[in-house]
Amino acid sequence: MTRYPEFAAALLAWHAERGRHDLPWQLDRTSYRVWVSEIMLQQTQVVTVIPYYQRFMARFPTVTSLADAPIDDVLHLWTGLGYYARARNLHRAAGIIRDQFNGEFPKTFEEVASLPGIGRSTAGAILALSRSERFPILDGNVKRVLARYFGVEGSTADKSVIDRMWQLSDACTPDQGVEIYTQAIMDMGATVCTRHKPLCAYCPLSENCFARATGRQADLPTPRSAKGKKRRSREVFMLVAMRDDGSVLLERRPETGIWGGLWCLPEFDTESAASAYCGQSLAAAQNQPRPLSIVEHAFTHFDLVITPLLTSCAGHAGVMDAPPMLWYNARDPARIGLPAPIKTLLETLSSPTLFDSSDHHVS
Ligand code: SF4
Repeated sequence: MTRYPEFAAALLAWHAERGRHDLPWQLDRTSYRVWVSEIMLQQTQVVTVIPYYQRFMARFPTVTSLADAPIDDVLHLWTGLGYYARARNLHRAAGIIRDQFNGEFPKTFEEVASLPGIGRSTAGAILALSRSERFPILDGNVKRVLARYFGVEGSTADKSVIDRMWQLSDACTPDQGVEIYTQAIMDMGATVCTRHKPLCAYCPLSENCFARATGRQADLPTPRSAKGKKRRSREVFMLVAMRDDGSVLLERRPETGIWGGLWCLPEFDTESAASAYCGQSLAAAQNQPRPLSIVEHAFTHFDLVITPLLTSCAGHAGVMDAPPMLWYNARDPARIGLPAPIKTLLETLSSPTLFDSSDHHVS
């Protein structure tokens, strides 16, 4: 295999001078701490992750404390980070580590990569960053850097392109200083070789970069086909069944699908289905649900358009006999995971001024 030592040398020198050295997960690099940071950093920027990471590690300082915690506690601390399957997988994997590895983070690549939510790149990053073991990585930032630097054509959805990138990533990974190199290439991709307008003038790889030499930064990596990528939107109705004390009925969503395992307002496809539910299941509902202002939330591939429907409930509606449901009061919130737009909506609804007003605009 041809190796590219000049690639790693340039990144190591750049990191010594310009790289980030004081991120919370860089300070005490245990496998557990690095693992949690790598999962949080998937699809999410460093600046967003830092406060979530600090709260998470304060609450779950060890893998066993994470494994022993109720999933609601974990999802509660994840509220707002998105991609909640990550949190569920972390929790499941922590249980496996507690039960099958005596609470010790597994040692081999195969064992690490067998855990839920950990693919080849994340397993490599954990072992490289926490134990200085030489494994290549290939996250989105690294793919972009390699595609541009080496001029790799073709969609990253193609297996042959991905195989080629893994070969290149392996060929660039140094034998010494792999923990610094791994951090450096991730940082460089995130801050210099950015998706739009890369800062080539400040790039340690600019001298030999194919994309820079040919002016093809915008073409590489080859964008995925635009076919079938038209953005969809989905409209739903969510019932805000509120008691006199301001608490609102929530139900736990199924494990699969969007916001899996989080607590959410009861959701319906149509307004009439929500009304029917009020009449049949929510025996204490006093009036027809009233639409509030629409709430929109963007997912990666579609927009969710939510019409909240407000209704009031007196006393203790019978639905609580059908768990998993609970009454949630934003003024004294339970420690559960809520989708970010639902949390915002409930906080707005709990505002003391809201019900003094004749209309109920919340967004
Ligand atoms: S020179 Fe520009 S395109 Fe090439 S790796 Fe550096 S930032 Fe990316």
